[in-house]
Amino acid sequence: MEITGSCYCGEIKYQAKSQNNNALVCHCSDCQRMSSGPFRAVIIAEPNSVVFTQGEPKEFVKTAQSGNKRAQGFCGTCGTTLYATNEAKEDRVYGLRIGAVDQRDAFKPSAQIWAKSTLSWLSDLHEVPAFDTTPQN
Ligand SMILES: [Zn+2]
Ligand SMILES: [Zn+2]
Repeated sequence: MEITGSCYCGEIKYQAKSQNNNALVCHCSDCQRMSSGPFRAVIIAEPNSVVFTQGEPKEFVKTAQSGNKRAQGFCGTCGTTLYATNEAKEDRVYGLRIGAVDQRDAFKPSAQIWAKSTLSWLSDLHEVPAFDTTPQN
């Protein structure tokens, strides 16, 4: 499947290929912190399929506790996180952040990883009142 993505401000745009269901949710504490969200979800792109059609992302190289280094790509203007990939510039395999992908609703994750650090309230979210917009008082 051909996918496209962009950051919030539109400075960075990319296209890529991925197979349906090639998406994961990660509950690790690094993903919680770096996304400022309760978890992070990614679409794994096919090797050598990611092309930046506009703009150039900035990268922050994160060193995990294991010593593993991963380049974290983001828009230097609006700060949208876009991907993580290997530090080397060749043969990169991209985990594209699902929220920046235009076709994100088509990628139901097939697995959740680092489940041990899942936030305790997440499984109860379906019980929380839901509104289609910000409720007015
Ligand atoms: Zn941007
Ligand atoms: Zn993670």
